[in-house]
Amino acid sequence: EQSGHYNFAAGPAMLPTDVLAQIREEIQDWRGSGLSILEQPFTSSAFKQLMAETDADLRALLEIPSNYRVLFMQGGASAQFGLLPLNLLRPGQGADYLESGHWARKAIAEGRRHAPVNVIASGADQDFTALPSPAHWRLDPLAGYCHITSNETANGLQLQEFPALPVPLVVDMTSDFLTRPVPVERFGVIYASTQKNLGAAGLCVVIVRDDLLQAPPAGLPAAFSYAVQAEQQSRFNTPPTFTLYVAALMLRWIKQRGGAETMATAARQRSALLYRYIDGSDLYHCPQKIQDRSSINVCFQLADAGLTEIFLDQAELCDLTHLRGHAAFGGVRASLYNAMPVSGVQQLVDFMADFEQRHG
Ligand code: PMP
Repeated sequence: EQSGHYNFAAGPAMLPTDVLAQIREEIQDWRGSGLSILEQPFTSSAFKQLMAETDADLRALLEIPSNYRVLFMQGGASAQFGLLPLNLLRPGQGADYLESGHWARKAIAEGRRHAPVNVIASGADQDFTALPSPAHWRLDPLAGYCHITSNETANGLQLQEFPALPVPLVVDMTSDFLTRPVPVERFGVIYASTQKNLGAAGLCVVIVRDDLLQAPPAGLPAAFSYAVQAEQQSRFNTPPTFTLYVAALMLRWIKQRGGAETMATAARQRSALLYRYIDGSDLYHCPQKIQDRSSINVCFQLADAGLTEIFLDQAELCDLTHLRGHAAFGGVRASLYNAMPVSGVQQLVDFMADFEQRHG
């Protein structure tokens, strides 16, 4: 893990070196089959077994109750933005959305193409530097669901608590999935793309409470119907086999390290190290409200914005890569997903201190 080269990309993100080593091996020969993992038919008993293990590991790690189905879908979280209203709402029914930042806005914009959207609260008036507290959410009791974003990847904000609501709570967990335990029973749907904390791009895990499954309405392709994919165990059509395999390796990696609680401890440790340094410095600052700061995507600014490009260039030269903030916000963003060792954050902090000495 101590390669000295650390990838802080928001996603696809860094993978553990031992997972990469296993992939390298199994690209040649998967489980002694004599075939590459890339050559396995998804209908083979060995691949079905891999999918069953993936389902079982996810259930164990997140303590998913038996009345939830785990679906392996394609199209990323962005496709889910449109698929949620199509799968969950009755004709004419609307949905509640929390406007917490960049990704919530994307979900809202796409949701609006399919259904009436009620924004229950917005952080826009604070430039998305704080999350509207649940006490101020203006919920519609007739909404088909209430959509939230657990971690705003581009804004560096993270919800710390999930209220129990009378309508199904739907959460985009793409950027903090499996970085902490969550009360699954409070949610109707949890969805997350895998390219940040769970491996490679091309797969979106959708965890759905079984009473929400309904026959696909006209206009919803069967491959994107939760009910159809649940019925077919996510093998209605060819699933993204390689990405599923990488997710299975990541789940095992998380399990071997102690599970979601261990991931949460590591996430707190990594982010605390970085926030503590930033808060004590004169050159760097985080605009986010402290209680709402993300333990996963640490977004910060330099006091002299003109130094940002120099900072990013020099960081790359020191093998600290992809630290550029989201295009919509600028600044610096260090994405600290499950695979990031604390030594990577320490190397970043050391670089920042050195840079501050030279430019502060
Ligand atoms: N939601 C969140 C919170 C994200 O961070 C991202 C990706 N950065 C997405 C949705 C979109 O995911 P995808 O690119 O897989 O569609």
